[in-house]
Amino acid sequence: MMADTGLARWASHSERSRGRRHPEPPPAPRTEHQRDRDRIVHSTAFRRLVYKTQVFVNHEGDLFRTRLTHSLEVAQLGRSMARLLALNEDLVEAIALAHDLGHTPFGHAGQDALHECMHAHGGFEHNLQSLRVVDELEQRYATFDGLNLSFEAREGILKRCPRAIAERLELSEPGGVGRRFLEGLQPSLEAQLVNLADEIAYNAHDIDDGVRSGLLTLAQLEGLPLVDRFRGEALEAHPTLAGQPRRLLAETLRRMLSAEVYDVVECTAARLREADPADADAVRHLGPMVGASAALREQSLSLKRFLFSALYRHPQVMDTTDRARAVVHELFAAYLARPAELPPDHAAHADLPRAVADYIAGMTDRFALREHHRLTGRRAFDAGVF
Ligand code: MG
Repeated sequence: MMADTGLARWASHSERSRGRRHPEPPPAPRTEHQRDRDRIVHSTAFRRLVYKTQVFVNHEGDLFRTRLTHSLEVAQLGRSMARLLALNEDLVEAIALAHDLGHTPFGHAGQDALHECMHAHGGFEHNLQSLRVVDELEQRYATFDGLNLSFEAREGILKRCPRAIAERLELSEPGGVGRRFLEGLQPSLEAQLVNLADEIAYNAHDIDDGVRSGLLTLAQLEGLPLVDRFRGEALEAHPTLAGQPRRLLAETLRRMLSAEVYDVVECTAARLREADPADADAVRHLGPMVGASAALREQSLSLKRFLFSALYRHPQVMDTTDRARAVVHELFAAYLARPAELPPDHAAHADLPRAVADYIAGMTDRFALREHHRLTGRRAFDAGVF
């Protein structure tokens, strides 16, 4: 079996993986977690991320982040931190690339709408849906459904889980990925790292996309401690940037990302040195180990609050999300009333509402808009983009 090299004692070592639900021969010449990553990259759900919204609906512009570019940025930040901490970079990459696979079209608006539609049928939650994608919905292997990922990759993908669902998971897979939510345990360091990389990535890229879209102005960013500090440093090092706002913003965000990465690496390394866990499993019984300094946490919280009120609640974003919610509601109702409009394997499913939710969740923004137009005769957005 291929082993990882140069990892810390508390990292997730491939050769000590808890394994896959369906036993398979070793993936030589790759490690187990390299195989996880490769399977995710080849999945259908991964390719669809390119046409799924992060904040902006896909047709609003070609330069904004999509779920795919967001996932790549999370993987890049996560891998940089993993390498510096001697954690398993391949596992971090696998979890990062898969962490948004269960996202619906239209970002959070789509997820909220689908959850409302599924209220009487067990609800809809995107972390759980990501696990469903890799456990069941991908159908590309001869002898099993899903991608048959390792326990450690699946543990990282299931970032959150309500207790009732954890109990259900525990029944179907005793001691599996639901268990930690019942016992209050932590996931691996690699999973903790991806969660933080996710936050660091979207705080920075939402500022960038917000300014690029014109919904945020540079003047609005003044007074945000994190932005002020790095803009100040950038201007001091390169005074001519004062006349080049786009380049100044990029230089500010670049410095911010680097500082955040090093802050997290330093704090996490110090916590690990102090706790000195014997191995990856001992980490699960400790408190959260991966984290930023108190000062940085405070500053990124104020950035997050700013983005929430200035960007995510911007009237133009709200208008888009209102329309997107309506599209999801109307699609759900249309398929439920006329299952013959679904692809045959979904229509034949024993649990029709769940099959409809799976089908809608898998759609790209533009496919959802096309289907909505086909089934209702109405166009949710004026622009003739599809
Ligand atoms: Mg994410």
